[in-house]
Amino acid sequence: MLDYLGWVHPAGHMGYVVMPIHGRLQGMTLRRHLSHGSKPRVHMCSWCNHVYRGKGTAMFSTDVSGSAGRRSIGNYVCRNLDCSLRIRNLTSDPPTYMPETLDVRRKAQRLENAVLQFMARAQVLGDAT
Ligand SMILES: [Zn+2]
Repeated sequence: MLDYLGWVHPAGHMGYVVMPIHGRLQGMTLRRHLSHGSKPRVHMCSWCNHVYRGKGTAMFSTDVSGSAGRRSIGNYVCRNLDCSLRIRNLTSDPPTYMPETLDVRRKAQRLENAVLQFMARAQVLGDAT
């Protein structure tokens, strides 16, 4: 069971996120902006808290629903939208730079809450909340 299902369009500039909320699937489309900075920096995914040294996250943004493109929000998130695998250590590369002792259930909860919050801010949830 995944907390959210995320995938990136093969062209690389769009991402899709789907999550079951109160038994209904909610989805959203995101624009993906890869950073092209060359300096190795530490980046943390704001959804799953995975910490990367150097590249690993991308800025994902979306227009706030109903704002006619006037307002948008964004988060730095794992660039392949694979947070669900990362919190369970199902990907081999690269391990988080700052391991946590938090158990997987709590990490999953935190991840779900972060995605839920993002969807709420983007106002894609409608009456579901
Ligand atoms: Zn992540």
